[in-house]
Amino acid sequence: MKIAVFPGSFDPITIGHVEIVRRAIPLFDKIIIAVGVNSQKKYLYSLEERMKHIEAVFEHEDKVSVDKHEGLTAHYCMKKNAKFLLRGLRNAADFDYEKQLSQMNHIIGDGVETVFLISHPQYSHISSTLVREVIKGGGDASPFLPDGLFK
Ligand code: ADP
Repeated sequence: MKIAVFPGSFDPITIGHVEIVRRAIPLFDKIIIAVGVNSQKKYLYSLEERMKHIEAVFEHEDKVSVDKHEGLTAHYCMKKNAKFLLRGLRNAADFDYEKQLSQMNHIIGDGVETVFLISHPQYSHISSTLVREVIKGGGDASPFLPDGLFK
């Protein structure tokens, strides 16, 4: 059984994240979207809200489930018996960071392999960080968000 973990903050989930998960569905038997809980981080949306948004998007995808996770992603993968991590790459900055993360996770995660999907060009400018700025500033973030959410 090929299980992949897609970890992130998803504060909030964007159409960029959704696209990565949808493209990964044919590659794996199961994808667990692991929503991060980090007491040091200040989120715009609560853990419950972030999970609820994702569950609504993937309601009809049997292979996709949503969970929360605290601590090291590599340990979470081992606990779930997931041999793969799924990540999206938007640009060179993502690459530099993700390269290190993937190399370290491979060691501490007992050989967990990170699978990268390069975002399609129409999504590569979208980040949760900037979407939060739009929302906080009272702008319309709906072009970046999955249909039907936050409206
Ligand atoms: P983190 O807090 O770990 O950066 P994010 O929720 O921002 O979590 O992102 C989770 C994953 O989704 C990362 O692999 C990130 O590169 C990817 N991702 C985020 N936005 C996009 C996008 N627009 N296109 C493709 N991948 C994306």
